[in-house]
Amino acid sequence: MFGRKNPEVLVVGAGPVGLFASLLLARRGVRVKIIDRDWRTGAHSYALALHPRSLRLLDELGLKEAVLQEAYPITSIGFYGGGERRAEIRAGGNSAQGLLAAVLRQDALEALLENALASLGVKVRWNHELSRLQSRPESAVATVHRLVKQTVGYAVARTEWTVGRTDKFEAAFVIGADGHRSTVRRLMGIDFQTLGDAQQFAVFECRTGADPGREMRVVFTQGATSALWPMSGGCRWSFELLEPAVPVPARVKDRIAVDLGPARYPMLSEESFQKLVAERAPWFDAPVREIPWRIAVPFDRRLASVLGKDRVWLAGDAGHTAGPVGVQSMNAGLGEAYDLASLVAEILLDGRSSDCLRAYGERQLAQWRRLFAPASDLQSGHRADPWVVEHSGRILACLPASGDELVDLAGQLHLGPR
Ligand SMILES: Cc1cc2nc3c(=O)[nH]c(=O)nc-3n(C[C@H](O)[C@H](O)[C@H](O)COP(=O)(O)OP(=O)(O)OC[C@H]3O[C@@H](n4cnc5c(N)ncnc54)[C@H](O)[C@@H]3O)c2cc1C
Repeated sequence: MFGRKNPEVLVVGAGPVGLFASLLLARRGVRVKIIDRDWRTGAHSYALALHPRSLRLLDELGLKEAVLQEAYPITSIGFYGGGERRAEIRAGGNSAQGLLAAVLRQDALEALLENALASLGVKVRWNHELSRLQSRPESAVATVHRLVKQTVGYAVARTEWTVGRTDKFEAAFVIGADGHRSTVRRLMGIDFQTLGDAQQFAVFECRTGADPGREMRVVFTQGATSALWPMSGGCRWSFELLEPAVPVPARVKDRIAVDLGPARYPMLSEESFQKLVAERAPWFDAPVREIPWRIAVPFDRRLASVLGKDRVWLAGDAGHTAGPVGVQSMNAGLGEAYDLASLVAEILLDGRSSDCLRAYGERQLAQWRRLFAPASDLQSGHRADPWVVEHSGRILACLPASGDELVDLAGQLHLGPR
């Protein structure tokens, strides 16, 4: 239908979700082009854990061995309140290989996906920015700027990215995996509704001199959630901030590994870190030798009103954002990339009707609404611990799962949807 220059599918955004969708399409034999306005993959650990379903999907793409070689296994989650251990969840049932989650830095995951894609002959077109999009019943036409570096300024020269060339691509489908500030979503006029309070977290990645263990720990204190993730050689602490940072930090994906440290935000100093640990997790006694990365970052709870229509569909943070502890947005995004790319491949290669995409979008949104549901929508079994019942809404948001697997994990604590 389209010339060779045009892809069958244009994927906008080379984060984990866009890379995963492109890889699946390329493996099924679909001609795919993937563009990203930035110049390389991210440089930090960001969404650092893979849910069991994500591991199974990566396995289908032949990446399980590579992932497990680099990943750090999580086999239990401990919940803490008032300085005491209150509840726990253990791997079992549907968990992949006895794991509740696998800690893999987001930059490592992105590098794995980019290399796997390159081995199929698909290179990410970095520095390519989507600027316009027209959706038609049978195709979508994208206007893409190729960005180039230019030196500007007279007395003091500086480098800026400017538009070097503009191309138009016509594709049978466009997948918008372009993150929480999605251009695709904006150009499609899709509303991004707020479904809960925004949160801010201070994140500290630590090198310690102790065995990090295999347990993720979640700590509830008055109004704030904190999470401890073991990582190879250390751990990551994420503390929800009760007093938001000023100026409000931007949620930006760095492409160079820099630690700005406490220069901008005093609450990122080592003294603040020690104070937060002492107040919220007095049981944490690993000797912290170094804090190579720290950041203050905001998280909204938002959901797109629809995930797409006709020939343009969203996946990942472009369609939803959630709090960081359950690592739900990226992992649900990988699931969406899998479902969406599989349907698109069936439509293009097997002549399946594109009506199936509407059902896909509704299914995903229903799953997200359930995840954002208030605690009153949860039912506690008569065996549920009173502390668990009191914190049920917060617990659900912290479990590393979504959909039916989330229901299974919550079941271990005798919690379930009404
Ligand atoms: C500082 C920080 C800390 C985080 N911490 C956590 C955490 O602790 N736990 C957690 O679960 N999640 C965390 N996240 C969120 C997590 O990184 C995201 O959920 C994940 O990256 C989503 O993947 P994605 O592929 O949907 O989008 P992204 O990874 O955001 O990728 C989108 C890509 O689209 C590109 N793009 C945007 N607009 C255009 C355009 N117009 N044209 C072309 N390309 C475009 C961007 O350059 C980007 O590379 C954090 C994010 C940040 C920035």
